[in-house]
Amino acid sequence: MIQINQLKLNIHHTEADLERKIRKILHLKEDTLLSYQIKKQSIDARKKPDLFFVYTVDVQINAALEKQILRRCNDKNLSAVQRTSWHFPLCKNGKFLQHRPVVIGSGPAGLFCTYFLAQNGYRPILIERGMPVEERLKDVEAFWKTGKLNTESNVQFGEGGAGTFSDGKLNTLVKDSDGRGRKVMEIFAEYGAPKEILYVNKPHIGTDVLINVVRNMRNAILENGGEVLFHTKMTDIHTRNTDGSKQLESLLLTDTLTGEERILPTDITVLALGHSARDTFQMLYERGIDVQAKSFAVGVRVEHPQAMINLSQYGREHPDILSAASYKLTTKLENGRGVYTFCMCPGGYVVNASSEQERLAVNGMSYHARDGRNANSAVIVTVTPEDYGGSHPLAGVAFQRKLEEAAYREGKGSVPVQTFGDYRRNMPSEKLGTVIPQIKGKYRLSNVRNIFPGEIGDSIEQGILAFDRKIPGYAGEDTILSGVESRTSSPLRINRDAQMESPVKGIYPCGEGAGYAGGITSAAMDGIKTAEAIAKKYLPFDKAR
Ligand code: FAD
Repeated sequence: MIQINQLKLNIHHTEADLERKIRKILHLKEDTLLSYQIKKQSIDARKKPDLFFVYTVDVQINAALEKQILRRCNDKNLSAVQRTSWHFPLCKNGKFLQHRPVVIGSGPAGLFCTYFLAQNGYRPILIERGMPVEERLKDVEAFWKTGKLNTESNVQFGEGGAGTFSDGKLNTLVKDSDGRGRKVMEIFAEYGAPKEILYVNKPHIGTDVLINVVRNMRNAILENGGEVLFHTKMTDIHTRNTDGSKQLESLLLTDTLTGEERILPTDITVLALGHSARDTFQMLYERGIDVQAKSFAVGVRVEHPQAMINLSQYGREHPDILSAASYKLTTKLENGRGVYTFCMCPGGYVVNASSEQERLAVNGMSYHARDGRNANSAVIVTVTPEDYGGSHPLAGVAFQRKLEEAAYREGKGSVPVQTFGDYRRNMPSEKLGTVIPQIKGKYRLSNVRNIFPGEIGDSIEQGILAFDRKIPGYAGEDTILSGVESRTSSPLRINRDAQMESPVKGIYPCGEGAGYAGGITSAAMDGIKTAEAIAKKYLPFDKAR
């Protein structure tokens, strides 16, 4: 196979233009049959408003001809490649499981872990405290309309996990040398995501499409012998001492609708809890699970007109056939803090993403079309255990809660909103300017700056001013700020060894909540890795019969 890099065409090109260009680059005759696959497509906006797609393309070439063509073309953008794809390891002589494996949490980490265990005959049981995605959707919409929060079925909890009501961005900084990241994209595409996620540079799904993908993956798990228990919360764990170490023995499950409890015997359980399972973190800590505080980041959501972002990125307000423009900005301040944009949602909405009563957190989402009026993004500042005011392993959770209580107070229960001009003057906003907030949930004009300790509040201001040098208008008087963006990643880590197991044997900490992922794709990849670790060590218990 020959890979062509840096193949550049105007954004209005046709498929025939692409094929013509491939033939030209490879010096092939006009009528040569082509078999090729686009591996990557990104946008070149260096000459904006003239915009180009830049492709990486794999072309299937007869092995005998490959060397000849490469020699003849002598082009640094051409290379011979061999693609190897990732495969799930099969355990041949491991221990037999005594029970079906259990996975707690149906976010991307738990969903992908369960999916692969089911596909490989392990008949996993997936436990989710929240509701199936169809009912969860109703609960979330009711919360945004009435302000009445269901603490077990919301933007953080329920089938599909935290990312279900999201922009569904799938890019990740995690290297994909083993092909798990590619596998995640293939599975998303197989279960309903658009095929373009397999090659575009910044793939995204969108809330509307993601809901279907999650439902389809659940059905595949059921068809392959898995089981899914909704509105069921793991509320306790029981262990026994074996050979000087602790071994997981059973879980206490509580039905979140009826309060009914039952014991589930288990020898292995994957903890794919997400970053918001604070009650579960507390329980695990009290049961002696090895937990430690870690750094994360907090800040605000900012909103700008999408047309302004398009103009700065593409050189035109309306990007024609391109989707709404995105951006990513970072700066290092003199006080040593890093400020950066995070989870940018082109044409999206700010959402009230709270999961605890009288505590308020925001985040961002968009639909697949990304056709909302505003662009939003978190602007966040790194915080470390030094900021938490204590060395307790759960001190980061206490720090998040304090900010979320302040946000709830500022907004009197609604999302607190302020213009950047008033934020700089440290005055509550009394009126909006030209930017109208696009928020799912009620909002209230107030003083967002009051949410933060002085240095963090100042760092947010300085960060936004620095970003204005990269995107003119970013620090405009009318830019909208809302808060608090506090669930950016987990405030703790649940320790595990190289085989993915906690010092308490049988427990597999996994995904974002345990501190091993940040975002949908990396959480899904960690879920796959955890399923692999289990499959390398154990044979399904059914086979022992
Ligand atoms: P989660 O998705 O948080 O899933 C954990 C699950 O565990 C939850 O469903 C929860 O209900 C369940 N659970 C917790 N405790 C228990 C218990 N005791 N018993 C039973 N079940 C339990 N990331 C991106 O990459 N791109 C984006 O565009 C993006 N946008 C986002 C937008 C929003 C509004 C939010 C909130 C997050 C967004 N994220 C995005 C982050 C992304 O959602 C997370 O990184 C990802 O979901 C983490 O996956 P996870 O499986 O580790 O945990």
